[in-house]
Order: sequence, then C-alpha cells, then structure tokens
Amino acid sequence: MKKFIALLLTILLLVPSLDAKKKSKKSTSSKKSSVSYKYKKKHSRTHSRKKSKKKKRTRYTYVDPLKYKRKTKIPTSFEELIFRGRGYVIKIRAKQFRQGNLAFLRIYSNNPECRLDISQYRILWRNTQISLSPTRKGYIGIVPIHPEQKVGLNDLVVHRKSKTKSTTETFSINIRDTQFPVRKMYSRLRVPKKYVPRGYSAETQRFIEKCDLKKQKAFSTISDMQISGRFVSPVNTLFVTSPFYTKRYYHPKRKGKPHGGVDLRGKIGFPIYAIQNGKVLISERMFFEGIFTVIDHGSQMFSLYMHQSKTLVKEGDFVKKGTKIGEIGSTGVSTGPHLHLGLRVDGVMINPLSVLEVSLY
Ligand SMILES: [Zn+2]
Repeated sequence: MKKFIALLLTILLLVPSLDAKKKSKKSTSSKKSSVSYKYKKKHSRTHSRKKSKKKKRTRYTYVDPLKYKRKTKIPTSFEELIFRGRGYVIKIRAKQFRQGNLAFLRIYSNNPECRLDISQYRILWRNTQISLSPTRKGYIGIVPIHPEQKVGLNDLVVHRKSKTKSTTETFSINIRDTQFPVRKMYSRLRVPKKYVPRGYSAETQRFIEKCDLKKQKAFSTISDMQISGRFVSPVNTLFVTSPFYTKRYYHPKRKGKPHGGVDLRGKIGFPIYAIQNGKVLISERMFFEGIFTVIDHGSQMFSLYMHQSKTLVKEGDFVKKGTKIGEIGSTGVSTGPHLHLGLRVDGVMINPLSVLEVSLY
C-alpha cells in the first residue's frame, strides 16, 4: 500500500512538468515544424525508398560552405605514351587517357645533336592540326580528348614533307570512357526568373548578343604558349560541388547542355587565383557568366572563371599563375556562391581538373 501511494505521488508530481513541456513546444513554432517534418520523413520512408533519397539530396545542398572542410582529391600522377617515328620521338602525357581530359605532346629529334625542322611536320588529332610551340627540347602541343571522343583506338597522324620525300606515320592512342554524372534538377530550379529563357526584353537580348560577340572574338585569339610548370588550384580549398560534363536535365522532356566546367565551393569574397600564366582577354560582367574572366594561355587554351563578385584584373593584363584575379560570388546564372572554372582547348570544353597540380610536359 505504501508503495502504491508513493507511485501515485510521483505520477502527480510528473504530470505538471509534462504539461509544461507541451506548452513550451507550442510556444516555439520552429520546433513544432521540425517535429512534423521528421514525422513526414519517417512516413515517406516507410512508403517508398526513392522519395526519402530525394529528400536527403535536397538537404545536402543547404549545407553552409564554411562548415564544410572536405576536400576533393584529384589524381596527381600521369600516364605517358612514347612513339618512335623515323627521325623523331613523340611523348604524350595525360593524367589518364580518358574522355574529357587534356594530354600534352612533345616531339623532338631522335638525334640529340640536331634540332627538329618543325616546318616539315604536321601532326593531326581528330582531323585538326595540333599547333606546336618551341621548348628547350623540341616542340610541345596540346591534345584535347573530347568528352564525346570515340572510346578505343584513336589515330594520331604525323605527316612529314621534306624536299626529297613525304611520309605519313599513324600511331594509336587508346581512349578510355568516362562515366559522366547525370542530375535531374526538375524540383531544384532556383535560378532567378529573369534568367529563364522565355521572353527576354529587347535590351537583354542586345546585351546577350554583345556578350556572345565578345566571347567569339576572344576565343579566336591565336598566340604562343605561355604555360610554365604545373597548373595551380584556383581556390584555397578545392571542393567540387558539380563535376565536369554533368548532364543536367531541368525538364523531363528537354535535354540540357552538359556542364562545361567544374563548380568549386566557396563563400562570397573568397579569393580566386589564375591557374596558369597568361593574358587576360575578358574581365567584365556578362549576362549568363556574371563577372567573367578569360585568360589566354596560348595555343588556343583558355581558362574561364565565372560568377565572381569582384574582378581584380582588366583586359590586356598579363598574369602569373597563382595571382589573385578576383573573388567568389554568385553573379549571372547562379544558384549560390561558387566558382565555375572552365578550360577551353581548341574549341573543346575540357575537364580543368585533368591538368591541375601536375606537370604534364
Ligand atoms: Zn558551373
């Protein structure tokens, strides 16, 4: 009996405290909503696995960049192919001979005593001639591997035409495939309305055309190779939020353009560095790219920096690699602060990570 009374007393004492807890829950509306959210999540999880997966991904995009200290690891080793022709040697290096990567080619005489007469040679890759720049030992050129390049053996053709004879030698490079990611973004379209391509005003249309002309002019620049040593990271902490050539589908029926570069995480004001030596061709606000910088590294190779909050360089400037050229922002068509880094080689968009932090020539 005594035990029973004691139990009754404790129950009586507990009830008011429970009530108080309930009241405090009611008074803070945010807590209440989080409770219902949890309930919904649990509920959907029991119904279908697919739904809960989607929710998890959406939550991932709201993580504060400063809280994130993860780094994306990129390969720093390389593969090398050596071809020996009549009178010359060709060495080609790439991180990996894969779709979307960049390879560097060196050609030099097989006789160390004499220099190659480059005017006799024409090297073709994907039926286009590789432009060659002189180095201490022979000549170097760039071999872009298109993201949609044929998988398997691809030809590198060397034509040699001297006064007496002309020869053609063909070497094969085995290109492996890259599994580019696919992202369905139907529910996550958060681009401001003015960028949705339906009924731009005449003024906007004129501005877009002006930007296009400026880009066309820049990308047709032909200059000598200006690179030296390895390419450096454009940000302090390299963390990829959207990989190269991700196929983004904004609408179930319309196929979007593949992502032409990599998106790197950062907060507004974080520094951006030039990845290699070069000349600034563009550094201004554009419609889609926001504050946009293009650096020409010679031989039809350009690095592109988009959505900046601020640029610190101007057209015509020569920059050394590692120089701070701007700050991260969210200008142009952008859903949040990040740096979109692009690498355009011979008119082909290449994965910029395939050249960073390694010396390929
Ligand atoms: Zn991007």
